[in-house]
Amino acid sequence: MSAATSECLFCKIARKEIPAVPVYEDDSLLAFKDIFPQAPVHLLLIPKAHCEGLADMTPGIAETVGRLPQVAARLAQEHGVAASGWRLLSNNGPDSGQSVFHLHFHLLGGKPLGGKLC
Ligand code: C5P
Repeated sequence: MSAATSECLFCKIARKEIPAVPVYEDDSLLAFKDIFPQAPVHLLLIPKAHCEGLADMTPGIAETVGRLPQVAARLAQEHGVAASGWRLLSNNGPDSGQSVFHLHFHLLGGKPLGGKLC
Protein backbone atom coordinates (compact mmCIF):
# COMPACT_ATOMS: atom_id res chain seq x y z
CA MET A 1 0.00 0.00 0.00
CA SER A 2 1.37 3.44 -0.93
CA ALA A 3 1.65 6.28 1.58
CA ALA A 4 -1.16 8.02 -0.30
CA THR A 5 -3.63 5.21 0.27
CA SER A 6 -2.68 4.60 3.90
CA GLU A 7 -3.24 8.28 4.75
CA CYS A 8 -6.07 9.09 2.34
CA LEU A 9 -9.36 10.04 4.00
CA PHE A 10 -11.58 8.44 1.37
CA CYS A 11 -9.45 5.28 1.31
CA LYS A 12 -10.08 5.08 5.05
CA ILE A 13 -13.82 5.52 4.47
CA ALA A 14 -13.71 2.82 1.78
CA ARG A 15 -11.94 0.50 4.23
CA LYS A 16 -14.50 1.38 6.97
CA GLU A 17 -11.71 2.72 9.17
CA ILE A 18 -13.56 5.99 9.66
CA PRO A 19 -17.34 6.33 9.66
CA ALA A 20 -19.56 7.51 6.83
CA VAL A 21 -23.21 7.01 5.93
CA PRO A 22 -23.17 4.68 2.92
CA VAL A 23 -25.97 4.80 0.35
CA TYR A 24 -24.52 2.39 -2.24
CA GLU A 25 -21.67 -0.09 -2.38
CA ASP A 26 -20.39 -2.71 -4.75
CA ASP A 27 -16.98 -4.32 -5.30
CA SER A 28 -15.29 -1.21 -6.65
CA LEU A 29 -17.62 1.74 -6.02
CA LEU A 30 -18.86 3.39 -2.83
CA ALA A 31 -21.36 6.22 -2.33
CA PHE A 32 -21.96 7.99 0.96
CA LYS A 33 -23.52 11.17 2.32
CA ASP A 34 -21.32 14.26 2.27
CA ILE A 35 -20.53 15.28 5.84
CA PHE A 36 -21.06 19.02 5.01
CA PRO A 37 -24.02 18.92 2.61
CA GLN A 38 -24.32 21.85 0.19
CA ALA A 39 -27.80 20.80 -0.95
CA PRO A 40 -30.67 18.72 0.49
CA VAL A 41 -29.23 15.75 -1.42
CA HIS A 42 -25.42 15.73 -1.42
CA LEU A 43 -23.78 12.38 -1.98
CA LEU A 44 -20.20 11.47 -2.84
CA LEU A 45 -19.41 8.63 -5.23
CA ILE A 46 -15.89 7.24 -5.21
CA PRO A 47 -13.94 4.40 -6.75
CA LYS A 48 -12.67 2.38 -3.80
CA ALA A 49 -9.21 2.17 -5.37
CA HIS A 50 -7.08 5.23 -4.82
CA CYS A 51 -6.28 7.80 -7.45
CA GLU A 52 -6.05 11.56 -6.99
CA GLY A 53 -8.24 12.67 -9.85
CA LEU A 54 -9.48 12.06 -13.37
CA ALA A 55 -5.99 12.48 -14.84
CA ASP A 56 -4.62 9.64 -12.70
CA MET A 57 -7.10 6.85 -13.43
CA THR A 58 -5.80 3.37 -14.12
CA PRO A 59 -7.75 1.38 -16.73
CA GLY A 60 -9.50 -0.47 -13.89
CA ILE A 61 -10.55 2.75 -12.17
CA ALA A 62 -11.69 4.18 -15.52
CA GLU A 63 -13.91 1.14 -15.95
CA THR A 64 -15.43 1.71 -12.51
CA VAL A 65 -15.93 5.41 -13.27
CA GLY A 66 -17.63 4.41 -16.53
CA ARG A 67 -20.40 2.77 -14.48
CA LEU A 68 -20.65 5.65 -12.06
CA PRO A 69 -23.20 7.85 -13.90
CA GLN A 70 -25.68 4.97 -13.98
CA VAL A 71 -25.25 4.45 -10.24
CA ALA A 72 -25.67 8.21 -9.74
CA ALA A 73 -28.90 8.20 -11.75
CA ARG A 74 -30.23 5.36 -9.64
CA LEU A 75 -29.29 7.20 -6.43
CA ALA A 76 -30.95 10.39 -7.74
CA GLN A 77 -34.11 8.34 -8.25
CA GLU A 78 -33.89 6.77 -4.80
CA HIS A 79 -33.29 10.14 -3.13
CA GLY A 80 -36.20 11.82 -4.85
CA VAL A 81 -34.41 14.27 -7.17
CA ALA A 82 -34.62 12.45 -10.50
CA ALA A 83 -37.49 14.60 -11.74
CA SER A 84 -36.44 17.93 -10.24
CA GLY A 85 -32.87 17.68 -11.50
CA TRP A 86 -29.45 16.97 -10.12
CA ARG A 87 -25.81 17.59 -10.82
CA LEU A 88 -22.81 15.26 -10.94
CA LEU A 89 -19.42 16.93 -10.73
CA SER A 90 -15.82 16.22 -9.91
CA ASN A 91 -13.34 18.84 -8.74
CA ASN A 92 -9.82 18.27 -10.04
CA GLY A 93 -6.87 20.34 -8.92
CA PRO A 94 -6.35 23.63 -7.08
CA ASP A 95 -8.50 25.99 -9.18
CA SER A 96 -11.47 23.62 -8.90
CA GLY A 97 -11.43 23.71 -5.11
CA GLN A 98 -10.62 20.01 -4.73
CA SER A 99 -9.92 19.42 -1.04
CA VAL A 100 -9.77 15.62 -0.83
CA PHE A 101 -7.27 14.10 -3.24
CA HIS A 102 -9.06 10.82 -3.88
CA LEU A 103 -11.19 10.94 -7.03
CA HIS A 104 -14.82 11.63 -6.15
CA PHE A 105 -18.02 12.85 -7.73
CA HIS A 106 -20.55 15.05 -5.97
CA LEU A 107 -24.22 14.26 -6.61
CA LEU A 108 -26.20 17.37 -5.71
CA GLY A 109 -29.92 18.03 -5.86
CA GLY A 110 -33.07 19.00 -4.01
CA LYS A 111 -32.87 22.76 -4.64
CA PRO A 112 -32.08 25.07 -7.56
CA LEU A 113 -28.33 24.73 -7.76
CA GLY A 114 -27.33 27.90 -9.63
CA GLY A 115 -23.68 28.60 -10.32
CA LYS A 116 -23.90 27.24 -13.83
CA LEU A 117 -20.50 27.94 -15.43
CA CYS A 118 -21.00 26.35 -18.82
O1 C5P B 1 -14.48 18.38 -4.18
P1 C5P B 1 -13.88 18.44 -2.80
O2 C5P B 1 -12.55 17.75 -2.72
O3 C5P B 1 -13.84 19.82 -2.22
O4 C5P B 1 -14.92 17.62 -1.92
C1 C5P B 1 -14.59 16.97 -0.74
C2 C5P B 1 -15.88 16.70 -0.02
O5 C5P B 1 -15.66 15.75 0.96
C3 C5P B 1 -16.49 17.94 0.66
O6 C5P B 1 -17.79 18.20 0.14
C4 C5P B 1 -16.53 17.52 2.11
O7 C5P B 1 -17.67 17.99 2.80
C5 C5P B 1 -16.54 16.00 2.01
N1 C5P B 1 -16.08 15.24 3.19
C6 C5P B 1 -16.87 14.24 3.72
N2 C5P B 1 -16.43 13.50 4.78
C7 C5P B 1 -15.25 13.76 5.33
C8 C5P B 1 -14.43 14.79 4.81
C9 C5P B 1 -14.86 15.51 3.71
O8 C5P B 1 -17.97 14.00 3.23
N3 C5P B 1 -14.87 13.04 6.39
